[in-house]
Amino acid sequence: MQVNTTITRTAQSPRDRKCPLCGRRPGRPCQRKPAGDHLARFLDAYTAGQLSHAYIALVLGELVVTRRAVILDGAR
Ligand SMILES: [Zn+2]
Repeated sequence: MQVNTTITRTAQSPRDRKCPLCGRRPGRPCQRKPAGDHLARFLDAYTAGQLSHAYIALVLGELVVTRRAVILDGAR
């Protein structure tokens, strides 16, 4: 799954925060090649008030979710 993160290279990038899922340090991508970040980083930045609702909606709108995707308890 790939999400266009070009627009995240801003002063309030989710990458400026430690990833709550894999623990990657701020400034480092969760995945190096191709560079990318876990959705958890975006959600963490959103709940911290660093990303707008419109921004997180844009990110979620780019996700490709398959029929086999699992929505964990507590995510609804
Ligand atoms: Zn991560």
